[in-house]
Amino acid sequence: MGLDEIKDVAKDFADKAVTKTGEVVEVSKLRLELSKQQGRLRALYQKLGSSVYSMKEKEYEDPDLIDHLCQEIKANLKIQRDLKVKIAGLKKMKVCPVCGSRNPMESVYCNQCGSRMKEDFAQPEEEPAQDESAAE
Ligand SMILES: [Zn+2]
Repeated sequence: MGLDEIKDVAKDFADKAVTKTGEVVEVSKLRLELSKQQGRLRALYQKLGSSVYSMKEKEYEDPDLIDHLCQEIKANLKIQRDLKVKIAGLKKMKVCPVCGSRNPMESVYCNQCGSRMKEDFAQPEEEPAQDESAAE
């Protein structure tokens, strides 16, 4: 292996490290947001449950409150779904070594700056199974 090849390998390695770190940061931001939403969902379910209980206990009805909570739950579930899609999407994307834009895995050239993309190095990471049933 010549000196130039060694340099290339070293540069390649550095590029990969940068790309990987960027993706990890992005994914962990999304994961943080996802876990916030999951916490909020638990609070909503709890509020819904206690509202139903106190209505039963005090023999009154407030369908608007129930509706409102159900809508919030629905919206929350949608946000969570979108976040999961984003996280999955991120993992199937590669980042341009030159400009940092995300490109589909199969791209050969960056769709932003036209630079040649590096071969994909990222190992497909298994998503831990989300336990949604516990919250429902
Ligand atoms: Zn680019």
